[in-house]
Amino acid sequence: MTKFNLDGKVAMVTGGNSGIGLGMADALAEAGASVCIIGRDQQKLDAAYDKLAAHGGKVLALQCDVSDEQKLTAAFDQCLAELGPVDSCFANAGVPSRGTAFHEMTTTEWREITSVNLDGVFLTFRAAIKQMLEAGRGGSLVVTSSLSAHQGQPRGEHYASSKGGVLSMIRSLAVEYARYGIRANAIVPGWIDTPMTAPLFRWEKFAKAVMPRIPQRRWGLPEDFGAVAVYLASDASAYHSGDDLLIDGAYSLF
Ligand code: NAP
Repeated sequence: MTKFNLDGKVAMVTGGNSGIGLGMADALAEAGASVCIIGRDQQKLDAAYDKLAAHGGKVLALQCDVSDEQKLTAAFDQCLAELGPVDSCFANAGVPSRGTAFHEMTTTEWREITSVNLDGVFLTFRAAIKQMLEAGRGGSLVVTSSLSAHQGQPRGEHYASSKGGVLSMIRSLAVEYARYGIRANAIVPGWIDTPMTAPLFRWEKFAKAVMPRIPQRRWGLPEDFGAVAVYLASDASAYHSGDDLLIDGAYSLF
């Protein structure tokens, strides 16, 4: 199992202070990686820092909006200075749709979603790849997509478009950077119980309609994403690139 060991590796997780990102960051820290997390909410960053630091490794929690090019560049520079170049980068930060009908959606709302869920992934991976190329030891890029990339999302076309766009980005990166030992994969979650979905899951009508369609009869949990994060950050996934890893309790098959 030594291939799964992350001692000496540096992992970056955007949106690592909550939900799926925190589930991944926690497992990465437990497996020995130095972990840098990025988010906007300082209180959540402080709480996540304490959780990750309890594993005994180096942790950096940086307040930054991933759609802010200058601040994100500065965050990557700080991570490089304090932890070293990133070996794995999880572009996971995302914002949900607000349920606006497409014909009533303003350009401002469209851009609020795509600037984080698509442009933010571009900025994050561009910064990570620069460090990986400079360090010359390869790396792993992982994006958190969504089933909406495949199925669409009525009243969430901006969300679905951005989640589909990152799948195409990942496939392109997997080919473009393979020669540098950099691999690229997407994680596609089903219905996961996080602060983002909590209001939806508490809505009885929704829960009654969706839960019977989940063969495992439970919502996914942030910790369900720990092992896949460790695998993708580790040398165990050296030949795994350009893939979508579906983590949905078989929801999409049922
Ligand atoms: P969550 O707990 O609300 O996490 C979202 C994370 O993104 C938070 O850490 C948030 O931190 C961060 N974030 C949002 N906007 C940001 C920005 N502009 N700059 C930096 N960080 C930002 O929800 P989650 O469910 O774990 O979502 C994680 C990812 O999974 C998202 O990309 C989401 O689209 C995707 N996803 C979730 C589900 C699900 O069922 N939960 C399903 C499919 C895909 P701050 O609040 O501190 O900014």
